[in-house]
Amino acid sequence: MDKNDIKSLNLDELTALIKEWGEPNFRAGQIFKWLQQGVDSYEEMTDIPQKLRDKMANSYNIVTIKCKKRLESTIDDTVKYLYELSDGELVESVLMKYNHGYSICISTQVGCRMGCSFCASGLNGLTRSLLPSEMLGQITATQRDRGIRISNVVLMGMGEPLDNFDNVVRFLELVSHEKGLNIGLRHISLSTSGVVPGIYKLAECKMPITLSISLHAPNDEIRSSMMKVNKRWGVAELIKACKDYIKVTGRRISFEYAVISGVNDSDECARQLSRLLKGMLCHVNLIPANPVKENSYKKPDRATIQKFCDKLNAFGINTTIRRTLGSDIDASCGQLRGREIE
Ligand code: SAH
Ligand code: SF4
Repeated sequence: MDKNDIKSLNLDELTALIKEWGEPNFRAGQIFKWLQQGVDSYEEMTDIPQKLRDKMANSYNIVTIKCKKRLESTIDDTVKYLYELSDGELVESVLMKYNHGYSICISTQVGCRMGCSFCASGLNGLTRSLLPSEMLGQITATQRDRGIRISNVVLMGMGEPLDNFDNVVRFLELVSHEKGLNIGLRHISLSTSGVVPGIYKLAECKMPITLSISLHAPNDEIRSSMMKVNKRWGVAELIKACKDYIKVTGRRISFEYAVISGVNDSDECARQLSRLLKGMLCHVNLIPANPVKENSYKKPDRATIQKFCDKLNAFGINTTIRRTLGSDIDASCGQLRGREIE
C-alpha cells in the first residue's frame, strides 16, 4: 500500500494520526467522511481548519482519478467509463441501472496476470494492482458524474481481485463503513477466476458479500484450455474450496459460466456440471460469451443457451441466463481499454 495515500486509511488509522497531531478526535470522523465521499482536494473540506488541511497536504496525497472517456448505451441505461489513474494508467468501470437502483462494475487491477483465453483484460498481462482508494474512486467519480447514489458494487471489471487480496479487503471495509459510502456488504459481489488460497482466506474474513466463481467449464480438460489458472488449481480443488467457503460463511456461491459455441455448451457438459454442483448452496449464471477479436470463440445462439439452461434446471441446479447490458458499447471488461492502448 502507498503510505502517502490518505483515502486508503481506515477510521482507526485516521484517528491515531489525528491524535498524534494533537487534534480533537472528532476531526478524524469528519476527514474520513470527506475522503470517502471522494473529494479531490483538501480545500473541499470546508469544516476543517486551514492549518490542519495544510498539515495533511504536506504529508498525504489525495488520490484522484480522471474520466478519460464515457460511452453511453443507446439501447439501455448502461454507461461505460474509462478512468485515468494518477500515473496515467487506464481502468474501466461500467454503471448499470436496474429496477432496484444503480450498480457499478469496477476494476481491481490494471490488466490481469491470469491470461484467460476468452478475456480482453489479460491480453497484455498485469501492469499493477489498484489501491483501495482507486477502487473507491471509480464509485465516487461515477456518482459525481451522474449525480446519483450507487447501491450495488460488483468486482468484475479488469483484474483478479484475489490477486490483490489485501487492497480488495481494505476496499470492502472502507466502502461498507457507515461513515463512508455505507454500501452494505450484502450488496457487493466479488468474482474470481479460482485463486484457491484466496478463497480460503476470504472465507476467514466472514464478510457477507456474494462470491462469484468464474467456472466456465465442468472438467479440467476444457477448463485448462480456457483458463491458465486451472493448471495450478484444478476443478476438484476449486470446488472443495467453494464448499469450505459455503460452510464457513453460510453464503450461497454464484458460478459464472460463459457459454462458448462448440467448447462448453454440449449436453455432456451440462450433465457433468450438474454432477459437480449437486447439493451445493449455489446458483449458476449463464453468460452468452462476448467475442473478443483476439480469439475465435463464438457465442451460441439463444436457443442453445436456453436449452443448456433448461437442462441444468432439470438436473436440479438453479440456473439463469444473465441479461446482456450495454452490448453496443463494448461493456464487457477490458475491451475499451484494449482499444485505447493499441
Ligand atoms: N478476474 C475475475 C473478475 C473479472 S472478469 C474473474 O475472472 O472472475 C469478470 C467476468 O467476466 C468473469 O466471469 C469472466 O470470466 C467474464 N468474462 C471475461 N471475458 C469475457 C468474454 N469475452 N465473454 C464473456 N464473459 C467474459
Ligand atoms: Fe483476468 Fe478475470 Fe479476465 Fe481471467 S477473466 S484474464 S482472471 S480478468
